Amino acid sequence: MGKLETIYDHSPIFFQNVMCSAAGYRNNPSRYGEEYYKYRAFLRKFDKLPYEKQKAYQLKKLKAFIQYAYDNCSFYRDLYKDVDINSIKTIEDLKMLPIVDKEMLRDNISDIYTVSSADGVEGHTGGTTGKSLVVRFTKVDMMHRMAMLDHFKSRVGFEHLKMKRATFNGKHIIPPNQAEKVFWRYNQACKQMIYSSFHLTEENIGYYVDSLNKFKPDALDGFFTSMCDVASYVERHNIKLTFRPVAIFPTSETLTDVGRDLLERVFCAKVYDQYASSEGAPFVTECSNQVLHMELASGVFEHISPDSDEVLVTSFTTHGTPLIRYRIGDRMTFSDNKECTCGLHGDIVEKIQGRRLDFLYTPDGAKINAGNVANLLKNMPNVVIRAQFIQDKMDEVNVLLEVEKDNYSESHEKLLRDEFVHKFGNRMKVNISIVDEIPRAASGKFRMIVNNVDE
Ligand SMILES: [Zn+2]
Repeated sequence: MGKLETIYDHSPIFFQNVMCSAAGYRNNPSRYGEEYYKYRAFLRKFDKLPYEKQKAYQLKKLKAFIQYAYDNCSFYRDLYKDVDINSIKTIEDLKMLPIVDKEMLRDNISDIYTVSSADGVEGHTGGTTGKSLVVRFTKVDMMHRMAMLDHFKSRVGFEHLKMKRATFNGKHIIPPNQAEKVFWRYNQACKQMIYSSFHLTEENIGYYVDSLNKFKPDALDGFFTSMCDVASYVERHNIKLTFRPVAIFPTSETLTDVGRDLLERVFCAKVYDQYASSEGAPFVTECSNQVLHMELASGVFEHISPDSDEVLVTSFTTHGTPLIRYRIGDRMTFSDNKECTCGLHGDIVEKIQGRRLDFLYTPDGAKINAGNVANLLKNMPNVVIRAQFIQDKMDEVNVLLEVEKDNYSESHEKLLRDEFVHKFGNRMKVNISIVDEIPRAASGKFRMIVNNVDE
């Protein structure tokens, strides 16, 4: 637990709001600087280009990006030693390059980073496969990523920094011993009310709804399952909402049709999905027709083989930790249909099957989704190889860890236990075991969460 967190936890709620806003103002220059606005302007123009011109731009960026990785990362220089990268003339030619998987990325990360930790912006990922990894973005990468996301939102009517957003995320904003039923904090820098996704129990959700009615957000964003929990409560208790957002932007989780219908029905607003991993994958975003488009300016998606729907990503906003033909672990179905009446030309994705909807319970019965469970590991960069969380009882979780034995220490276990207390409260019994190998499911798939508790 850092010093700032300790101060935060012991401050009154009013001061916690000030600290949230201060953090927001501190982050803004690195996210919304000059490059951000330049890139927003570029993207507005890019949308209007014909398909061929967009594809030509994508190819030009691809070649430049491969050259950049070759020039700046000893890992890629070594990996491409038998390939003439200048012979890559089309997107298809990308197949000449070897695939990079998560193990390769983790094992060689210091030969892939092109910026120091101080000069870059770190992206922590627990990843849905339960592996911890830290990627670094250059400041320009980060601004381009923010611009891409905000551009996507503005296409459907939401203007970031000008309009109000309610965010359901995995930030630790509520101290473990708080008695007041106030499960949100305000980040004035982004006109953003941050709602804790760790306290969404039947007993508490009414307070969230009151707060939302008071705040009247123009958009909702963040964890899909958290927003669904709120929507379900509103519907079941027949509560009147006094606001109508322009859009709902879920992140981090695979959407279900049932949940999407529920959100649209209850909040009277459309849901627009996006795909953008914390590792820095290129973007897929949903348009005003609710069709998923690849953002061609952000990178390249390919299938790993013609008969598989697993994707490889090459992402132009990863100059700090270049990802080229990276096996990110997600699956997508590409559409043969090239036309959408929304006016965008980005290739169409029929379905994103990637992220799973697994969760653990808190002893009170709140659901902690896979994104938040993965985040339990985010402060243990590159130490945990694989983790599995098994819940057989409401108040007990067994954690199996495959770790880097040379780097793992008692302090890491303490970090993990602290994270558990923050997310699950004091009453959760946590048993941590270090194992050589976590057994896989019968399907051969790795499951980060095994929840055996019947609802
Ligand atoms: Zn469209």
